[in-house]
Amino acid sequence: MTGAGQEGGRGSARAQDLEQRLAAVRARIGAASAAVRREEPRLIVVTKYFPASDVRILAGFGVTDVGENRDQEAAAKAEELEELPLTWHFIGQLQTNKARSAVRYAHSVHSVDRTSLVTALGKAVRTEQERRAEAGAAPRSDLECFLQFTLEPDAGPGGRGGALPADAHALAEAVTAADGLRLAGVMAVAPLGASAPEAFARLLEISASVRAVDPAATAVSAGMSGDLEDAVAAGATHLRIGSDVLGPRPGVG
Ligand SMILES: *Cc1c(COP(=O)(O)O)cnc(C)c1O
Repeated sequence: MTGAGQEGGRGSARAQDLEQRLAAVRARIGAASAAVRREEPRLIVVTKYFPASDVRILAGFGVTDVGENRDQEAAAKAEELEELPLTWHFIGQLQTNKARSAVRYAHSVHSVDRTSLVTALGKAVRTEQERRAEAGAAPRSDLECFLQFTLEPDAGPGGRGGALPADAHALAEAVTAADGLRLAGVMAVAPLGASAPEAFARLLEISASVRAVDPAATAVSAGMSGDLEDAVAAGATHLRIGSDVLGPRPGVG
């Protein structure tokens, strides 16, 4: 095997695989955006379960935004890849006791779904700023918060994460009132077995009620590998794409 063929190298089989998959996803985003004459959403490549070496390869192909859903895994990768100009998005359910860790590396959290988490994140950012000041480091930017909603028609609180649409106003006010947090917008996962266009239309209605609290909170994080076209058509500004770029997740069905 030549040097270029080694694991993680730009010329490795894995790199060729990632390059092709990434190009195909970018082409889909371009076509979907052109079809509805919208600006292309930001592509967040979801690298959960895949090694830091894959993230490094993707950064070499121009990926700037990566998504992770487990704090421990994300923290380790962000530290290993510290020298790369990457923006880390936390997209999974977040326990309040992980807030302090997450704000060390995360630019944004897409899964803000309860006021206790808003409180924990605000406090964590303020602690992080003190830590940086003491270390002589530059302050971080305000943490971008996406309010995550469940789009299950008859969901109760809890479950797979996501606030009820009825809580949009209160949650939006909690984020705008918190020092160190910036309200970015809304986020959702289309429910399994439901119509993605209908689900995303509901998310856009929720987005309107959030923008009534903060007109700058225009971001809409929606769309995964299977439904990115529907999300683009509905008006997504951020797409979270995992398996269509990385391949099937190891050990996951
Ligand atoms: C894993 C995950 C994604 C990416 O899903 P794919 O179907 O692999 O593209 C997007 N959003 C969230 C919240 C996820 O957990």
